[in-house]
Amino acid sequence: MPSKIRLYVDHALGRDQTVPLDQGQAHYLFGVMRKDAGEVIEVFDGHSGAWDAEVVEARKKAGLLRVTKQVAPQRDPPDLWLLFAPIKRARTDFIVEKAAEMGARRILPVQTDFTNSERVRRDRLQAHAVEAAEQCGGTFVPEVAEIARLDRLLADWPAERRVMFCDEGLAGQGAELPVEKGPWAVLIGPEGGFSDAERSRLAAMEQAHPVSLGPRILRADTAAVAALTLWQTRLGDWA
Ligand code: SAM
Repeated sequence: MPSKIRLYVDHALGRDQTVPLDQGQAHYLFGVMRKDAGEVIEVFDGHSGAWDAEVVEARKKAGLLRVTKQVAPQRDPPDLWLLFAPIKRARTDFIVEKAAEMGARRILPVQTDFTNSERVRRDRLQAHAVEAAEQCGGTFVPEVAEIARLDRLLADWPAERRVMFCDEGLAGQGAELPVEKGPWAVLIGPEGGFSDAERSRLAAMEQAHPVSLGPRILRADTAAVAALTLWQTRLGDWA
């Protein structure tokens, strides 16, 4: 049996709740996926698990669902942020999509000294995170923050949050991730790598742990997936 269509809705869910659909959702469900009144899909709101919902009204530009029963509990990812320097658009989209699938709780694009990217549109990236959550069976959607300067973020960095600083300068040197539980952030640099000033700033931070991702220099999108995998297997919900 094909798996049910999943839809994220920005609407608190509960039994018998009705959920209005916006034009984009109605187009997707009724125009693209050919759903009709009486059919059942799965919905989630990012906070209260996954629910079955029946289509009550199916119109071209709008629609209505009625929530019937809960089918999965809420499952939040571990307290892991991904900080990354945006690169080309398609690769930035890839990083956001993979971070959502792999269980990052927040995604923070950062402007570093050598960041060289097109304009970053937060709403587009957030939509990619939503799509990834719908596709991977998750019940949580990571928030994508507005782009911020890395030096400003680090100047006000929370004392309890460790940083897995993926430093290409350590490639092949075997610098490992320490097994310390608690809130973490993974930091991935741009194509040009980190500047000396950024390295010194990070070296001075107690929370920062420089790590190597193996003997080869990875592209930033590959590095993000590799770092999230490493963190999840050592400290996260794959451990
Ligand atoms: N231009 C840089 C150079 O040639 O050294 C490479 C930057 S790399 C394409 C982009 C980012 O991926 C780096 O800033 C780092 O965060 C991460 N990265 C790539 N390979 C890595 C490795 N072997 N160890 C640690 N981090 C790595």
